[in-house]
Amino acid sequence: MKLVLKKGRANPLWHGHPWVYSGAILREEGTAQPGDVVEVRDAEGRYIGRGFYNPRSQIRARVMTWRDEAVDAQLIARRIEEARGLRVRLGLPSAETTAYRLVNSEGDGLPGLVVDVYGDVLAVQFTALGAKLMENDIYDALGIMKPRAIIEVSAGGFAQLEGFASATRVVRGEQDVGAVRCRENGIEIEVEPLKGQKTGMFLDQRENRRKIGALAKGARVLDIYTYAGGFALNALRGGAKEATCVDSSARALERVSLHAQLNGYTNITSVEADAFRFLETVTPKSADLVIVDPPKFARAKKDLDAGLKGYQRLNTLAMTACAEGALLATCSCSQLVDQESFERMIAAASKDAGRRVQLLEISSQGPDHPVPPAFPEGRYLKFVLCRVV
Ligand code: SAH
Repeated sequence: MKLVLKKGRANPLWHGHPWVYSGAILREEGTAQPGDVVEVRDAEGRYIGRGFYNPRSQIRARVMTWRDEAVDAQLIARRIEEARGLRVRLGLPSAETTAYRLVNSEGDGLPGLVVDVYGDVLAVQFTALGAKLMENDIYDALGIMKPRAIIEVSAGGFAQLEGFASATRVVRGEQDVGAVRCRENGIEIEVEPLKGQKTGMFLDQRENRRKIGALAKGARVLDIYTYAGGFALNALRGGAKEATCVDSSARALERVSLHAQLNGYTNITSVEADAFRFLETVTPKSADLVIVDPPKFARAKKDLDAGLKGYQRLNTLAMTACAEGALLATCSCSQLVDQESFERMIAAASKDAGRRVQLLEISSQGPDHPVPPAFPEGRYLKFVLCRVV
């Protein structure tokens, strides 16, 4: 089948944006089943590329190649090989880090596919039907990593939206994969890809966690939305005086205790609480380093205003907890909140808290989460390091 785009709607695709939205399509020539590979052409009939088709989704096609070539097992194997080459170039894995992202969907030319590495176990997540239909080719190609096991991690909402069944299960190799020991920034961790959130860890923050480690000497640290304790552990490794980890998930906090034990840290406290409730009662100006890394506050455009208000209130509370001159690392993983709005929100929070704020550094997800430059949808993470005076 050929998807012919409306006049003027092909430009993003020519620049490497991999999604064909339903509204950009002028007509569909021929027929195709959901998940099939189709051709994409501009209004003049010029070939743009080939990708996965799904009539159920607003994202009608996801382009996998801009060359005139087949989307088959060979292409997948080549892309996975390339993805591995990039990670090796980035020094992954290393003695210090054995947990990282091997395939970041569109950013690695494999739309609909995420592969995370935890030591010798691979966690695979499908977010598009076309990728799911090629799962066996994908598992075969991942053989180059010589994994002890490959696990499919349920895609939840994506699967429903795209129309395929997904479950968390071992798909290749050893069946009884329990907790997997691996390392991040020199810290011993244990990941449970069959049970955790995401594929087991929030790998996108690794480089930011390292940064926090380098700024933590002697600090009293508050790690709000800690999950498995990532920021706090990096801070303690960097010489923090003590760390308090807050999360609403008891299961996540069990990981924090385990990780503290594995790494020999005793100056770490876990608090099971809602982040807002916790911050409302914390002693003002009692922390030297505060990290707030909440889940998405804005999932759809209609939630954007409420989401920004939520971030503002959260950051006001976090600033209030900051001692004079403390550092605050504030994050958002809502793709809908752009960098500019996020910084404006920080300014509004600074006014609400009655504190002066300096922006020190702005970053995003780590380099093992690459994105095409024409694809802002892929760069969702905002990490802003501030000083609160
Ligand atoms: N900072 C973590 C990732 C955080 S992900 C890291 O570096 O790995 C977001 C976390 O927020 C999850 O662990 C989730 O359990 C927790 N969470 C969700 N809602 C919460 C709430 N209302 N209060 C506190 N924690 C919450």
